[in-house]
Amino acid sequence: MDDLANFWMPFTDNRGFKATPRLLASASGCHYRDAKGNEILDGTSGLWCVNAGHARGPIVAAIREQAEELDFAPTFQLGHPRVFQLAQRLETIFPKGINRFFFGNSGSEAGDTALKIAYAYHEARGEPARKRIIGRQRGYHGVGFGGISVGGLPNNARGFPLLPGFSHLSATLDIANNAFTRGQPDTGADLADELLGFIEEFGAETIAAVMVEPMSGSAGVLVPPKGYLERLRAITQEHGILLIFDEVITGFGRLGAATAAQRFGVTPDIITTAKGLTNGAVPMGCTAVRQDIYDAVTQAAAPGIEFFHGYTYSGHPLAAAAALASLDVYEGEGLFERAASLEEIFEDIFHALSDARHVIDVRNLGLVAGIELAPREGAPGARAMELFHACFDAGVLIRVTGDIVALSPPLIATPDHFERIAVTIADTLAKIH
Ligand code: PMP
Repeated sequence: MDDLANFWMPFTDNRGFKATPRLLASASGCHYRDAKGNEILDGTSGLWCVNAGHARGPIVAAIREQAEELDFAPTFQLGHPRVFQLAQRLETIFPKGINRFFFGNSGSEAGDTALKIAYAYHEARGEPARKRIIGRQRGYHGVGFGGISVGGLPNNARGFPLLPGFSHLSATLDIANNAFTRGQPDTGADLADELLGFIEEFGAETIAAVMVEPMSGSAGVLVPPKGYLERLRAITQEHGILLIFDEVITGFGRLGAATAAQRFGVTPDIITTAKGLTNGAVPMGCTAVRQDIYDAVTQAAAPGIEFFHGYTYSGHPLAAAAALASLDVYEGEGLFERAASLEEIFEDIFHALSDARHVIDVRNLGLVAGIELAPREGAPGARAMELFHACFDAGVLIRVTGDIVALSPPLIATPDHFERIAVTIADTLAKIH
């Protein structure tokens, strides 16, 4: 093994990892192989991104062919066909009316872009005072300065200066009352009314947007209470505030529909995505907006560049080719419908962990499950981290955040795979301190 010293690993205990490294060497379908050749069942679709499974032939081929034909082309003042095809294709799967697409490289960039678009939209419509952004505690919208300001995860923000003018709704998780709920909790929709408090405090005419994950994943699987998103939509609409859904995790089938917006029947004004857009194979993020938002910004400006924003790799040809091929696989194999049809059995299998040692909550939606453990006294997160390592050694990749296990297997996974993940977790929890 080469020296591990030089790579500064993201979101990682570098010292711990480098003392006992776990390296993934290859992947196919629902499995990784580690450097020693052991097979590891991927219970997390990589980082919530490999929705169609790993190394899918048509996606690999599309990337290879695109690299040979046109490896890079600017999209500033120029273009290339693939990215326009992708935008046109996305209109067919996104909620009706959301049909203008801005591309970047990640979920973080998609989020920051969404905030800039919100400001630009209100400016264009003659309401430049609308600058306040309302996020939510425990929200995760990436790690740019916009993302950590609108997000609500203290660890991500600690020690960094935040942007001014951000407020946060309460998180919707309520284990005291809703532990072990299957699907959406019945209570908690009234938390959306906190928005009315901000409107009273600051005035609707100063609020640009509300940004939330319709179902939050990275912060530990927070399923929205029934009626909560509907109320956010009604209040924002009434007060001219844009509603932004961060669908970086929920986009592309995770909840059994193309977007969470469609699953919940609540259409926001802006949707951010990344991850499953390209099946994780090439980095790409996307900020999707209603046509009138695009029209307002592009038509209000004097002739010339209307929106001073973009990335060298916006709409990169390889990413666009990977996204088009991923959409072909999702549609050709009916993977969003498959996720919907597997939801009930998935729910049953993971709720069986309610009786497992240390488990204080199980929650789920679509092909996502969150299993919350009682923290070890004086060492929050330690029990889940031990579980993560032991499951990996037993051939199952899970994801942990704090003391919460988050599971999101590829949409091609079978009930046998779900069972294997659940049994490995239960057996391991029975053994660990
Ligand atoms: N938003 C959400 C909801 C996410 O889960 C993530 C990443 N897990 C991001 C934004 C940031 O995406 P990226 O890491 O691609 O910047």
